[in-house]
Amino acid sequence: MTSDTTALKPEKNLATEGPQPASMHTRACQAAQRLHLPLHDDRAFDDARRGLVAPLPPEGVLRPNGRPVWNLQAYGFLAHEQAPDSVHPGLWRHARLNMVTGLFKVCDRVYQVRGMDLANMTILEGDTGLIIIDPLTSTQVAAAALALYHHHRPQRPVVAVVYTHSHVDHFGGVRGVIDEADVIAGRVQVIAPVGFMDDAISETVMAGNAMTRRALFQYGALLPRGELGQVDAGLGKAVSAGTVTLIAPNRLITQPVESFEVDGIECVFELTPGAEAPAEMIIHHPGLRVLNMAEITSHNFHNLLPLRGAQVRDARAWASYLVGARQRYAAHSDVLIAQHHWPVWGSQSMGEYLLRQHDLYKFVHDQTLRLMNHGHTGGDIAEAIRLPEALQQDWSTHSFYGHLKHNVKAVYQRYLGAYEGHPAFLDPLPREAQARKTIDYMGGVDVVLSKARADLAAGEYRWVADVCARIVWVDPSCAEARRLCAQAMEQLGYQTESSTWRNAYLQGARELRHGPPRLASGMAASRDMIRALPLSHYFDYLAMRLNGPRAARLRLVMHWLFSEPNASHVLTLSNGVLRHACEEPVDKVDVQLRLSRATLDDISLEQLSFADALDSGRIQLQGPREIFEEFLMLLDTFDRGFAVLEPLPPISSFQLPE
Ligand SMILES: [Zn+2]
Repeated sequence: MTSDTTALKPEKNLATEGPQPASMHTRACQAAQRLHLPLHDDRAFDDARRGLVAPLPPEGVLRPNGRPVWNLQAYGFLAHEQAPDSVHPGLWRHARLNMVTGLFKVCDRVYQVRGMDLANMTILEGDTGLIIIDPLTSTQVAAAALALYHHHRPQRPVVAVVYTHSHVDHFGGVRGVIDEADVIAGRVQVIAPVGFMDDAISETVMAGNAMTRRALFQYGALLPRGELGQVDAGLGKAVSAGTVTLIAPNRLITQPVESFEVDGIECVFELTPGAEAPAEMIIHHPGLRVLNMAEITSHNFHNLLPLRGAQVRDARAWASYLVGARQRYAAHSDVLIAQHHWPVWGSQSMGEYLLRQHDLYKFVHDQTLRLMNHGHTGGDIAEAIRLPEALQQDWSTHSFYGHLKHNVKAVYQRYLGAYEGHPAFLDPLPREAQARKTIDYMGGVDVVLSKARADLAAGEYRWVADVCARIVWVDPSCAEARRLCAQAMEQLGYQTESSTWRNAYLQGARELRHGPPRLASGMAASRDMIRALPLSHYFDYLAMRLNGPRAARLRLVMHWLFSEPNASHVLTLSNGVLRHACEEPVDKVDVQLRLSRATLDDISLEQLSFADALDSGRIQLQGPREIFEEFLMLLDTFDRGFAVLEPLPPISSFQLPE
């Protein structure tokens, strides 16, 4: 970014520009959408409202210091049935459905709290106490959801928690409903699918900073709520902003299908790995005739590759779980619930719903592969693909969360990767150099801006956003390019059916007007996550932070000796790589550290620095302190608000000594 003060001036003017209303083209687009949507089909509202016991507390959930953790009041504008021009009419309907919230009775012994977070909390009434399925993202909302239940039902202790899968919106609130001491003492069972801990931790640690930054675009957490802002997050309204915790499970489901009673309730746990999450399971309760599909079904097309980033999911496996669940459980169930959205009532409806969900994933998978084998690329297939009419007329196949086009590209990427096979694009110029050449070949910035203004007026938003984004890479101080790019992305956001695309476009427009958010540096993980991180993962994390080019000439052997629990790890630095092994040292050791695991956790949480730990004796060091300090200087810290739409500092500046 330039530091020229005259260049910053136009940006300040830009910063006073707020979101623009829907354009003539967007209004026409929404009108055309309305003609094709099954807007007459309102059954989902009845399904969502059925069994309401009590609404959520209107004041929301606050921290003791008054900071809001959860509040739906800002979504009051969704009371209007008619979609405004700035929101896709299908997304508006879906956003209104996600406002049907409260404590619901599904059937005898089965309750759900919906709308207290992104996910649902399911509460089963066992013989002696409660079984909580998925305790939401944070402790404050989990406790409030349980309190709401207890306000209307008898006070009974929680005797078991089930985590359906390894995503944080399904376990982070666990300390809001149980005490770890009860788990250790065997009074509370915590049940999870095999691989749960590894997946829960690894996804948020190794790629954590990049993923957290990108999640701001996916969920629109920093956007104002409103008709010109965030209206929904697809799976729910938003992610709660409280304390994230984790208690390790004490009973793992390891077989493909396991059946046993939990506090008198018959449960058939069926593993569904590698689809929506690396570790996940669905649950059938034959006695209650309830099928809980976890997050394998939802009332929208889910993500095969979320915008926040993840490893590409397997659409084929996902489809097989859906058709398998239909075969095995639909005839033996009266209601299908899931850990997001509302139930599907009736055995027949459930069977049809599971089949349509199956067909959705399978159609996109198979047709992408078919066209790929004819030689077409992911982008071209995404542009051309249309779902069969019968699927289009089913709301639960719509792209409110994942997006049909993005999912096609994900299938292509899973099988063939990002390279589309044309050698001219095997080694393209890096994006800024490419942008500079492109703008230059087009006749320079002024010529391009003049054409972009005409295209914006003509509603060519995809192209205007694309070309103006390139000018911003070449000259981030060009206020006109930023303005045109922001205005084009905003209209794209208004026109899309997908909440995550809308949020991404609107967050992008906001950052072009106001710059990237200012966020503190540090590790994007909570105390429980850090505490649960195996030491080998911690050293992988350190190795990822090592500035390899700067460390290339250094050779160092470190012996880390841990107490509580005892462990010995040898870290060897050579060739810019940090290797670690849980062993006793064999080579000459340069420095030895003695510390407790708690000290290391405090350092990871930035409550203690290595220097303070050395000074206070919480780390006992043998060997020259300056060598260890030299090593610490080689570990990068990450900016949580790094630039996405503007040029970053050159990579060389991330390598050289300051
Ligand atoms: Zn979820």
